[in-house]
Amino acid sequence: MIYDVIIIGGGISGCTIARTLSKYDLKICLLEKEADLASGTTKANSGVVHAGYAAEREYVKRNLCIKGNKMYTQAAEELNFPFKRIGSFVVALEDNQIKTLEEYRKKGTEDGVLGLEIILDQKKILHMEPSLTEEVVGVLHAPSAGIVSPYEMTFALAENAAMNGVKFFRNHKVSKISHSDYTFTVKTKQDEFEGRNVINAAGIYARKISKMVGLDYFDIMPRKGEYILFDRNVLHLNKILFPTPTKISKGILVCPTIHENTFVGPNAQNITDKKDIATTTAGLKEILEGARSLVPNIPERSAIRNFAGLRAVPDTYDFIIDNTDVYGFINVAGILSPGLTSCFAIAEKVESFLELLGEELKIKETYNPFRPKPERFHDFTMEELDQKIKDDPAWGNIICRCETVSEKEIIDSIHSPVGARTVDGVKFRCRPGMGRCQGGFCRPRVIEILSRELNIPYDEVTKRGEDTNFLVGRTKDFILKNMEQGGVED
Ligand SMILES: Cc1cc2nc3c(=O)[nH]c(=O)nc-3n(C[C@H](O)[C@H](O)[C@H](O)COP(=O)(O)OP(=O)(O)OC[C@H]3O[C@@H](n4cnc5c(N)ncnc54)[C@H](O)[C@@H]3O)c2cc1C
Repeated sequence: MIYDVIIIGGGISGCTIARTLSKYDLKICLLEKEADLASGTTKANSGVVHAGYAAEREYVKRNLCIKGNKMYTQAAEELNFPFKRIGSFVVALEDNQIKTLEEYRKKGTEDGVLGLEIILDQKKILHMEPSLTEEVVGVLHAPSAGIVSPYEMTFALAENAAMNGVKFFRNHKVSKISHSDYTFTVKTKQDEFEGRNVINAAGIYARKISKMVGLDYFDIMPRKGEYILFDRNVLHLNKILFPTPTKISKGILVCPTIHENTFVGPNAQNITDKKDIATTTAGLKEILEGARSLVPNIPERSAIRNFAGLRAVPDTYDFIIDNTDVYGFINVAGILSPGLTSCFAIAEKVESFLELLGEELKIKETYNPFRPKPERFHDFTMEELDQKIKDDPAWGNIICRCETVSEKEIIDSIHSPVGARTVDGVKFRCRPGMGRCQGGFCRPRVIEILSRELNIPYDEVTKRGEDTNFLVGRTKDFILKNMEQGGVED
């Protein structure tokens, strides 16, 4: 089959593009090198839907951020991913910082950011955010800023795209692209895919993909950002808190997650190894210190996880969204922050390129923009649960005690369109292992369920794909084998 569009990369950019184009009568596929979608930068970021006042005016990313922010309301309603516009504060701790906030407010308002206001009344500020330091002298309040779960959103987009006909191929690393005048042949280890248009949304590897068609006009450097995540309910924040940025740094934020944890981070370290997502003692110390200047009572002892993500920083420091000189090849590269916020606006831009390339963008009669909300144990009343458990006892079998996740939710996450195939895939879809014990209790049970539902042996269940198996064999098999050889005493 010849695809109309082949998308390379299953992060937020690739999946938003897939879902946006899925309304048209086009044959589309998406190739992702990892065992699951949202495995790159999209997995580890701040999850903030920025208001859009921060970037300099000369950058494309500024406008796309402001536009993208506004597109979230409709998308969250259609796709049923959790999203809250809780608003953000940029915090001034010294009088001379108010000037920077005022500049943001003025230019942001001129450019269409809604509701920006400077608040100088300390009592009012602390009423709105009681966790904030009493050193605060003023804030820029951006009520349109919000929080989202980047991976849950990516899965929602992919599910809806799949419902509308997009084919997803995970574990498909693109290794070569050849092209003639009218078609591209995209090679992975397992298959070859032919397509008339190719969209490169490969994150930190986008330059490598671009070079495969002879286009080498940008560079991408990885910049690491480390985080500390705290147990749910030990610190409740109402607002996303940013320090006033300096010329050198945007600073460390303190932020609630959509599931009511709090996190602090990220810092910014230029690195060379694109696989280096290790956290460091120095980095964690740096972010804790930064966070304490905004929220003195950071609950350091209630940290449940440290993690790091890699920004794909282009040499232009701006998004590279190009309808390139290679006819039909579109680059969506260098999607650094605020790429998550901008994704719907980025996809709209790609849509306009396809129109320029002469694609007939006819909306399918069967297009359905809605993705059903996944059912969650904690969303039901006791009476509803009672009925649910009568209908299907898997609702009453709690697998993850920290996050109260039932067996039924795990089964559903495996059988959803583009469903989970790994333990992390289940974790990022419905949260077993996200709580205080970090999977210590539920992981073996999740492995069992994956093995049963996918009809594969236990030792083929992985954490996140190739070479991440948890189990290598049965203990008894090992003992019996050794006993036969006389090697183990009882
Ligand atoms: C520390 C940090 C904080 C951030 N905070 C925010 C924020 O609060 N708000 C915001 O708006 N933005 C934020 N961002 C930016 C945001 O996370 C990114 O803009 C966004 O996730 C980029 O998504 P992407 O799909 O372009 O890239 P990715 O998510 O990296 O996706 C690219 C995909 O391509 C795949 N791939 C690569 N090579 C191949 C190949 N050869 N074949 C097949 N597949 C391939 C990868 O496996 C990956 O899944 C932050 C980023 C970082 C690192």
